[in-house]
Amino acid sequence: MVETVEQVSEQEARAAYARVLELMEKHHRMFSKSIPLIASENIPSPAVREALASDFGNRYAEGWPGERLYAGCKYIDEVELMAIDLGKRVFRAEFVDVRPISGVVANLVAYSTFAEPGDLMVALAIPHGGHISHGKLKWGGTAGVVRGLDVERYEFDEDNFQIDVDATAKRLKKVEREEKKKPRLFLLGASVFLFPHPVKEIRELANEYGAAVVYDAAHVAGLIAGGKFQDPLREGADCMTLSTHKTLAGPQHGMVVSWEKYAEKLKQVAFPGLLSNHHLHAVAGVAIALAEALAFYREYAEQIVRNSKALAQALHENGIDVLYEHRGFTESHTVVADVTKYMDGREAEERLEKAGIILNRNLIPKDYRLKTDYRRPSGIRMGTQEVTRLGMRESEMKHIADLIADVIVKGKKPEEVADAVEEFRKNYRRVQYCFESITGAYDYVRIR
Ligand SMILES: *Cc1c(COP(=O)(O)O)cnc(C)c1O
Repeated sequence: MVETVEQVSEQEARAAYARVLELMEKHHRMFSKSIPLIASENIPSPAVREALASDFGNRYAEGWPGERLYAGCKYIDEVELMAIDLGKRVFRAEFVDVRPISGVVANLVAYSTFAEPGDLMVALAIPHGGHISHGKLKWGGTAGVVRGLDVERYEFDEDNFQIDVDATAKRLKKVEREEKKKPRLFLLGASVFLFPHPVKEIRELANEYGAAVVYDAAHVAGLIAGGKFQDPLREGADCMTLSTHKTLAGPQHGMVVSWEKYAEKLKQVAFPGLLSNHHLHAVAGVAIALAEALAFYREYAEQIVRNSKALAQALHENGIDVLYEHRGFTESHTVVADVTKYMDGREAEERLEKAGIILNRNLIPKDYRLKTDYRRPSGIRMGTQEVTRLGMRESEMKHIADLIADVIVKGKKPEEVADAVEEFRKNYRRVQYCFESITGAYDYVRIR
């Protein structure tokens, strides 16, 4: 009896095992036929993918390289020290910690270093581009829920998509008068990040309160690495946090970049405060991505921004309401459009996904005013970083805009557009801006 039970369960287990592997292969095939436009994603180089499959991912190395609490770290330590050194060169920084395992954890390191529970932080509201990790308790945001910070929002100029520094200063004076609270931390950076933030102006405002300035570069780290967008540390930020897998095309991981004077506190907060294991395969991947950044990102970042502007212009010419035409649409990898002339953001996302065009619905500034349901926002958000890595340039952006317009403006059947998308993608199979690219960008690699 026991034998048959075990046999059945082994069969079921094998079926589940095979199904998971099959689903992963299908996912790879789907992406190889799609146009990937999610602004927070990217395709890393084959070398980064190799790092992720290495034995580094099976080891522990708590602490700082050279002061580990585990044995067997000889090579791991050298790689981590290289990642730190490369990070310092890429971001021209005095201090780098490559241990935070994600952008959210990097933000928690910064919150815990520069503010205490109950302190007031100033950050962007989500429809203005803020990230859930910046949010207050009421919204379930990381800053409020995990670090216990009180969060006040920046005043925002919706027409120009920028922080209104003067109105924010007035608002903070009022908060100080009425609630007897002063800001301790100013957080800049966003998930919808079209134009540089006013770091210098916020630095001056922060100085009036003796507050810190932290810049969340999760989205734009690859652009900053390529010398585009802005240079937060030189403009007055105390610390920069980032995800290593958005415009910076590394593995999914995080990083903290700062000045030597904050090094000891930042290190202590990261470990033992927030980490035990810090995902050593990802650390190796980060080192590789940073070396690629030093070699290739000037050109890559330039092309991303050229592509974003070209995509925005072509969508606009196709009748789609791309936001902020009067500011040149964007200075980053991101393009945002209001699609309510045709449908809501969710329907646009769903139809485009059926056509093999992968992007996401997004709240846009007017949704803040209109109190739109976040599940059916007015906008869609696109990023050009991944298609740029596939070797696409301005003329390809025009073609992508036409395909998007076929679905949204012309109401073509998504399934028909999907055939055109698959055909178009056949010419863009390998990752550019890296040292070696033998394996196709979305090839599924079997090692079993
Ligand atoms: C994506 C993002 C994060 C979170 O990064 P993870 O690496 O996913 O944890 C933090 N801040 C901003 C602004 C982001 O867009």
